[in-house]
Amino acid sequence: MKVNLFQKLLKELENLTYTQSKQAEDVLHKKCSLENLEDVTGHMESCPHCQSKSFYKWGVRANLQRYRCNSCHKTFNALTNTPLARLRHKEVWIDYAKDVIEGKSTRDAASHCEVANSTTFRWRHRMLKIPTEIKAEHLHGIVEFDETYFLESQKGNHHLERKPRVRGGKATQRGISKEQTAVLIIRDRNGNTADSILETSNKETLSEVLIPLIDKDTLLCSDKKTSYTAFAKKFGYKLETINVSAKEHIRDGIYHVQNINAYDSRLKEWMKHFHGVATKYLESYLGWMRLLDREKDITARQLLAVFAGRGLSYQPLMRT
Ligand SMILES: [Zn+2]
Repeated sequence: MKVNLFQKLLKELENLTYTQSKQAEDVLHKKCSLENLEDVTGHMESCPHCQSKSFYKWGVRANLQRYRCNSCHKTFNALTNTPLARLRHKEVWIDYAKDVIEGKSTRDAASHCEVANSTTFRWRHRMLKIPTEIKAEHLHGIVEFDETYFLESQKGNHHLERKPRVRGGKATQRGISKEQTAVLIIRDRNGNTADSILETSNKETLSEVLIPLIDKDTLLCSDKKTSYTAFAKKFGYKLETINVSAKEHIRDGIYHVQNINAYDSRLKEWMKHFHGVATKYLESYLGWMRLLDREKDITARQLLAVFAGRGLSYQPLMRT
């Protein structure tokens, strides 16, 4: 909230009745109290060390309820063994989760949450790990796929193996090379999305990525490309190729690659917020995009629950 609006709000608070003040107090208490972090992450059901369901309360530390296990006697809290364990400034995590949804850069999020840049940088990379594991395992019906490219970036690496490139530069060669990384994106018409970073893009590599995701009777749609046709022919899949460069867009009313192209545009647009993503983190960012794209109405609290996700606790967010 902008400073002047906040000042105005504070002034307005003076006009609240006693009952209204109590209601406002409740809201603020909920927002500030870290009791509610457990509301967000889910109440403890078992010991994260040994899975025993027998444990008891064991004081409060760093604003988090601690527990002690009756079986292994170790202590734990709601964040033990999650990517959020031992991170500080919990009080602004909800604000930070909002920044993530809005696609703010680590720097902008740091200034919004009033913490150091190094803090939001650390959060980003801890929290990023989780959505990497949330990927569609099976795609149904008509499945579109395509390759998209990301410029190789050694951002954050102080020993560059090549001359630094001007930000937003272009690769000199097309296709997979030292200059760019290819990602195969696969998406069905229900919005289930999977992706895979490709080392090469021949029919064998495509088969390794695609076959575990689809059934034999899946109807594939792609751009016209020799390796795609070769894959379909060799492994016996029905593939409709759309000649996009010849301005073909849709055939028989159902065969097109518009979903995958639209997803790719959203992905590229969203990636721009981060001013170049280091290649080593590309997979994490892809996971994050899949999650945010799928859960368009996700709230900051739900996202925080995903970040603090332990085991299956974030699965309800996924549709099948
Ligand atoms: Zn235990």
